[in-house]
Amino acid sequence: MTLSASPRPQSGSKQIQGQTKPTVVIIGCGFGGLEAAKALSGADVEIIVIDRTNHHLFQPLLYQVATAGLTAPAIAGPIRHILRKQIARGNLTVLMGEVTSIDSASRCVVLDGGEHLHYDHLILAAGATHSYFGRDEWAKYAPGLKTLGDAFTIRRRVLTAFEQAERETDPDKREPWLTFAVVGAGPTGVEMAGTLAEIAQHTLSAEFRRIDSRVARVILLEGAPRVLGTFTEDLSKRAKEQLEMLGAEVLAGAKVTNITAFGIHYDLSEPQPDGSNKVSSHFVASRTVVWAAGVAGSPLGRSLAKSTGCQLDRAGRVIVKPDLTIEGHPNIYVVGDLASAQSYLHPDKPTAVPGVSPSAKQMGRKSAFNIMRRMKGLDTQAFRYFDYGSMATIGKRAAVAMLDLPWGNKKLKFSGFPAWLFWLFVHVYFLIGFRNRALVLMDWAWAYFSSQRHARVFPDPHALEPNAVIVHRDPPATPPVP
Ligand SMILES: Cc1cc2nc3c(=O)[nH]c(=O)nc-3n(C[C@H](O)[C@H](O)[C@H](O)COP(=O)(O)OP(=O)(O)OC[C@H]3O[C@@H](n4cnc5c(N)ncnc54)[C@H](O)[C@@H]3O)c2cc1C
Repeated sequence: MTLSASPRPQSGSKQIQGQTKPTVVIIGCGFGGLEAAKALSGADVEIIVIDRTNHHLFQPLLYQVATAGLTAPAIAGPIRHILRKQIARGNLTVLMGEVTSIDSASRCVVLDGGEHLHYDHLILAAGATHSYFGRDEWAKYAPGLKTLGDAFTIRRRVLTAFEQAERETDPDKREPWLTFAVVGAGPTGVEMAGTLAEIAQHTLSAEFRRIDSRVARVILLEGAPRVLGTFTEDLSKRAKEQLEMLGAEVLAGAKVTNITAFGIHYDLSEPQPDGSNKVSSHFVASRTVVWAAGVAGSPLGRSLAKSTGCQLDRAGRVIVKPDLTIEGHPNIYVVGDLASAQSYLHPDKPTAVPGVSPSAKQMGRKSAFNIMRRMKGLDTQAFRYFDYGSMATIGKRAAVAMLDLPWGNKKLKFSGFPAWLFWLFVHVYFLIGFRNRALVLMDWAWAYFSSQRHARVFPDPHALEPNAVIVHRDPPATPPVP
């Protein structure tokens, strides 16, 4: 079945039945897809936005939902509502559905129900997923954080671990419930570890009778020699100090070798005075592991490669041309986390574009811009990424920030309370919708003074994860082998 681009004329719109406007299909309504849709809505095109969820998600604050600081609607909004003005203009349709493959020969995307949807121009903005470095069996013990579903799973597991510890009468069996491991010390891992430490030290400290939540261990494991590897060394050191002040343990040089229902195995590499590295193997018993280590391009990248022969990088991201199209297909654009792109801000010295929300937004706008140029018979332009800097929050009053100054190729670096305040206001500013901004500010103000996290509820565990590992009081009886 092939669906038409414009299923019904909008009342009061200028849409003409049997229209011949070119159709732009946008797959994914995250940061890249949403910007592309907005930028195209004034153009003489028919736009179809497809997303497998009904919401646009502000991923940078997802860890707050996972750690019960914010509710889901504070950081996510219905796509249909966000794009209501564009829908009212009469040339934009939103469809909820999973795109399963792309057929470039017939210029169609295939939906989960088998429907074929025709495109003249395609913008692929399906983002990224977790990578367990070939060990997908770890996923059930160590969920990653990408979607609202992931955040609910982590929230449930973390809060359930404290509940199980209160029920457990054997101290040896209780300890793994009070040990939390976070794998990967990029911004997500650092914010998860810092917030988990705060929950144990402050939020829950007066609410249990049999356990003292403050004895809980939060361990952050990082394979590289330092945390926040994309930040400068001094900020990385500050981040480690702030994490330790909050009560987290930081294990740099720790390469995870196995994750089971019992805990986590890792090899620790420690530099020796003679310049060599001593490697030792360890096991830490933990019932709650969070994965913040690896990212891979959406599987739709592979589908596109199969259909068009385009190249993927090692992380499964689509290697794009300077104008964000793929080789041999000037009507297919890949943007955001799924694109392996270069910035031509300095054309003689292209630089790799990082997988962050500002770059996804800028790529989304650029792809729309290039489609409009092509429709006018003009050449497309190379993508130029404007990088304003990086920030990472660690916990209450703890963060690091590194901002690019517009003169002299200099960076402004700061940490602690000023960085945390700055981080907070930037994130609130970029949230979609005034209501969300007000909600988040109020929630944070309350959490700041009370140390409480108000979203500490989760549905019946069996409804969320029918085969959940954590609800078993004892893991399956297999020995903890590496
Ligand atoms: C926990 C976390 C914290 C982060 N923190 C920061 C931060 O502090 N600052 C920062 O700048 N960046 C941060 N990022 C990165 C930033 O969120 C991403 O770079 C950005 O979301 C990428 O935008 P995108 O449009 O490429 O993909 P996404 O925003 O991931 O959107 C992809 C969309 O495609 C949809 N989709 C996927 N597959 C299909 C399919 N087959 N069919 C239909 N729809 C599909 C998804 O439902 C989703 O809506 C963070 C990311 C995470 C996960």
